[in-house]
Amino acid sequence: MISVEEARTRILKHITSLPTISVPLSEAIGLVLARDVIAQENIPPFANSAMDGFALKSQDSRPHEGKPARLRIIGEVAAGYVAQQVVIPGTALRIMTGAPVPEGADTVIQVELTQSVSSSEPRTQEAQVDILSEVAPGNNIRLAGEDMQRGQTVLTAGTEIGPWEIGILATLGWATVPVIRRARVAILGTGDEIIDVDQPLQPGKIRNSNSYLIEAAVRRAGAEPIRLGVARDTLASLHEKFLQAVTCDLIITSGGVSVGDFDLVKQVLTEEGQMEFWRINMRPGKPVAFGHIGSVPLIGLPGNPVSTAVTFELFARPVIRKMQGQQRIIKPQAPVIVEQGIPDRASRRHYVRAHVEWQQGQLVAHPTGNQGSHIMTSLRNANALVIVPENGESIPPGGTAMAIMLDWPEVELAQ
Ligand code: AMP
Ligand code: MG
Repeated sequence: MISVEEARTRILKHITSLPTISVPLSEAIGLVLARDVIAQENIPPFANSAMDGFALKSQDSRPHEGKPARLRIIGEVAAGYVAQQVVIPGTALRIMTGAPVPEGADTVIQVELTQSVSSSEPRTQEAQVDILSEVAPGNNIRLAGEDMQRGQTVLTAGTEIGPWEIGILATLGWATVPVIRRARVAILGTGDEIIDVDQPLQPGKIRNSNSYLIEAAVRRAGAEPIRLGVARDTLASLHEKFLQAVTCDLIITSGGVSVGDFDLVKQVLTEEGQMEFWRINMRPGKPVAFGHIGSVPLIGLPGNPVSTAVTFELFARPVIRKMQGQQRIIKPQAPVIVEQGIPDRASRRHYVRAHVEWQQGQLVAHPTGNQGSHIMTSLRNANALVIVPENGESIPPGGTAMAIMLDWPEVELAQ
């Protein structure tokens, strides 16, 4: 039996990133940028005002004989327009946030620091404004290229695209984006006892929870799930399903990889594909098979639902993320306090489902009850896997253990 780390290393060694495709900007969220993004324009493209106020010459803002400077208002410019007037000494132009700074002006004063001059004959008098504060050149002016300069590498290949990157790409006019494409993941249940979710229970039968759980987990990992139903416990049925499955980038099966008479996934992988390994020193989920059918990697998850869930997190999610070009592919670990302790001495490494919360400055883990690999309710509310090491040491009440934090963002795998 190999360790979890060795299994993961051996799996990931076979995984390379998928081809690059172009997708519309709004579909790029969560995908990985396939090449560097170099600004073709200055951003902002033109010097513009950061405030609503007046564009003027800075030397015109100086008070005169103890009185504020009084300037003639020669017009106004709103965002989206270019001023027709040139600011000359003694004049100011009303300007809105985002409007281009007019020719002749070297500064902007915000409206709060001015006072419009009320005239007794408003119709005949030209509008005027008093400048209540002296302003330096460049005040409230956002310079062209201050954010991004033409020729600058703004985003690098390998960056995961989030909402903020989408904003940057939109600013630079990238209507379509080169990304590493989503993985297409075939999902296959196995077993004569498995019926679909809409079927009433019959003697000896159980519903297919694994395929739906895996489908959801695949989708959450950012890939495209393709559920292929359930193969019966015959070689012919498996063969038929694998014919469809090999058109995908990855095959995930559940069940059929243990030591029973009908554990045929293992048999097909051994006899017709390439089997890397099929047992890992862990609980839940000792029987995890990895190999290839043709050139398509196959992860054979165990049938017990909790084992399926846990081994998906440990092995399948990193594979999907690596295929999709992600650099951060595994969930981080953090030390947690286990108030009630975990008494069992594990010969295999035990991943105990737990709810971890932040309590008075530390992470405290509460195991979620019966940890049997068939107890699906042990997954309820679990956001972490507390690790009981394989060296036989139990965790005393109040003791500290490492936990895999399932709802924290992934980190890079240490080399
Ligand atoms: P196996 O490895 O095929 O012997 O399966 C181990 C256990 O997992 C058995 O109790 C199966 O009934 C159960 N199991 C297998 N596949 C599924 C599935 N798709 N949904 C729910 N339980 C399953
Ligand atoms: Mg089975």
